[in-house]
Amino acid sequence: MPAPHSTESPLIETPEQTALRRAVGDLGRRFGSSYFLGKARAGEHTDELWQEAGKLGYIGVNLPEEYGGGGAGVTELAIVLEELGTAGCPLLMLVVSPAICGTILARFGTEAQKRHWLPGLADGSKKMAFAITEPDAGSNSHRLATVAHRDGDDWLLNGRKVFISGIDGSDAVLVVGRTEDARTGKLKPALFMVPRTAPGFEYRPIAMELVSPERQFEVFLDDVRLPADALVGDENAGLQQLFAGLNPERIMTAAFSLGIARQALDTAVGYAKTRTVWEQPIGAHQGLAHPLAQCAIEIELARLMMAKAAHLYDAGDDLAAGEAANMAKYAAGEAACRTVDQAVQTLGGNGLTEEYGLAALISATRVGRVAPVSREMVLNYVAQHTLGLPRSY
Ligand SMILES: Cc1cc2nc3c(=O)[nH]c(=O)nc-3n(C[C@H](O)[C@H](O)[C@H](O)COP(=O)(O)OP(=O)(O)OC[C@H]3O[C@@H](n4cnc5c(N)ncnc54)[C@H](O)[C@@H]3O)c2cc1C
Repeated sequence: MPAPHSTESPLIETPEQTALRRAVGDLGRRFGSSYFLGKARAGEHTDELWQEAGKLGYIGVNLPEEYGGGGAGVTELAIVLEELGTAGCPLLMLVVSPAICGTILARFGTEAQKRHWLPGLADGSKKMAFAITEPDAGSNSHRLATVAHRDGDDWLLNGRKVFISGIDGSDAVLVVGRTEDARTGKLKPALFMVPRTAPGFEYRPIAMELVSPERQFEVFLDDVRLPADALVGDENAGLQQLFAGLNPERIMTAAFSLGIARQALDTAVGYAKTRTVWEQPIGAHQGLAHPLAQCAIEIELARLMMAKAAHLYDAGDDLAAGEAANMAKYAAGEAACRTVDQAVQTLGGNGLTEEYGLAALISATRVGRVAPVSREMVLNYVAQHTLGLPRSY
């Protein structure tokens, strides 16, 4: 079955991208939202889907071929997440493991780190979480207080993180900390690979009102001793390396939101075509048809912005990709919140039943508004960097 809101024109996507879109959609529909929500409600992971997607080359489609990946870009990885989400299986860890961690390792890791991690991240046999958010830093990452001190050849890492997704199913966590600059004495960002089982590394689930197979965790790093080669990339280029991973994160969060939005729109449209309480199906009433049409337009606009951001990123223009990725994440988050809201309304009482699975999407779409960077912080960014307005905070 072709994608419902089609970019299936060779002018927009290559034939290979369209083929990938269709094949991933087929896989996603074989599992579907009943599988995904069933796992989430049972407190289980979606390992079967993750492993199969890994074997088929979808999880690591963006990673370099020489390390077992597909050699494509974030454009293709976003297609994978969007189509799985449209089929009812929005795999949150695709945002984290191959997109953030895989990208940073592929671009800045040592040869040994790449050989150790990338083949597993690509075929899905290994997974990695990503930890930047802190209780007292939140949107203000300049306040990050996780610090690594040198102890002989080792590092000692101390700090606290919050809302970290999927640690329980991950082999390691890429932790954003800080090191002291020997020259200035100032703290600067640096990335560390922390094995989930490292002594001093503890994590506790946070009770979230989300129907998701991925849980969020509070993390405690208490004198976690790491070897010298736990540092990823250059100690002096932490910020640049971080942004290399954060742009794909934003593009993938857009894909996460848009997959959910398309799933909700498909459900609502299908329902509106058949549910009849007067003479005609309820979809004949403009009070329902027009808002759904608006949602379709907003989804399409956000998809285009996401494609632009991914294209810029894959072409190596990190700066332009930054603005586009922020805009795409914003547009997708808004389109998804509005679409799910309208879909629930379209189904009346059925919008709130487990059978249709739409109510679960209400909180899922809010994630795309808050994480990884909130709607307000994107607006701050655009006001300041795109429009040149004074910074307000
Ligand atoms: C489901 C989920 C999964 C997540 N997974 C991860 C993960 O895997 N790894 C990770 O590191 N983090 C993760 N996060 C954390 C997420 O990135 C943060 O929640 C997000 O960055 C916002 O930070 P905060 O929650 O501390 O909100 P705060 O920073 O406290 O913000 C609260 C409110 O204040 C607003 N605000 C703050 N500053 C300003 C300002 N200057 N101007 C205007 N408004 C402002 C914000 O927009 C927001 O509305 C996850 C979060 C969720 C909900």
